[in-house]
Amino acid sequence: MSDLSLDKLLKKAENKLQNVHEIVQEKAYELIRQAYKESIFIVITEGFRSIEQQHKLYSQGRTTPGSIVTNAKGGYSYHNYGLAIDIALLDNNGEVDWTIDRRWNKAGEVGKRIGLEWGGDWKSLKDYPHFQYTFGLSLSELRSGKKPEKQTEKVSRVLIEYGDRGNQVQLIQRMLIHLGYSLFGGADGIFGSSTLKAVKAFQQALYLQVDGIVGPKTLEKLYGNFNKTMF
Ligand SMILES: [Zn+2]
Repeated sequence: MSDLSLDKLLKKAENKLQNVHEIVQEKAYELIRQAYKESIFIVITEGFRSIEQQHKLYSQGRTTPGSIVTNAKGGYSYHNYGLAIDIALLDNNGEVDWTIDRRWNKAGEVGKRIGLEWGGDWKSLKDYPHFQYTFGLSLSELRSGKKPEKQTEKVSRVLIEYGDRGNQVQLIQRMLIHLGYSLFGGADGIFGSSTLKAVKAFQQALYLQVDGIVGPKTLEKLYGNFNKTMF
């Protein structure tokens, strides 16, 4: 009987989640946690796959020995951008169990609940172990070099106000835009009158002191609401 504690499963996942986008990592851990509550034991079998590795995989069964395992050439899988994971389920003895049964549907449901797209829903070629999170980016956009925005930077200064410039202003602007506030110059890193107006509107909507200054309380609400829309 192997150790099927949640900690063990989370620990096991770490290795395979290397080079996977941070937000997708978070979702993978959440998937493991939520499924665990339903006695479904998930291991991650694959995360990031380089374009080179994908090419090799695509060759298998075509120009190299073995059977065909993928229809995606290098650059044509979300795995190549760290935005997809594959899972396997363990039975009560901790052995990988590929029987397709209701546990897979359950795992799929859990994944979708936390915002992942599930390969088991695909019409043509069902891919039960596969989950992805695309940030709304198509594969051709990713191939052309587009990247999901990083949400991991943190604003460190205490007060940000009218007239300020720089990365921290830009980060605040991005969050405001994401939350539906329109900014005249976009996220240009300049705290001008349009940003001031948006900050005040945000503060008003959240019953904060409407002073147009981004201090700790406004920041906390910004992050909180922003994260809610991301997860
Ligand atoms: Zn996959």
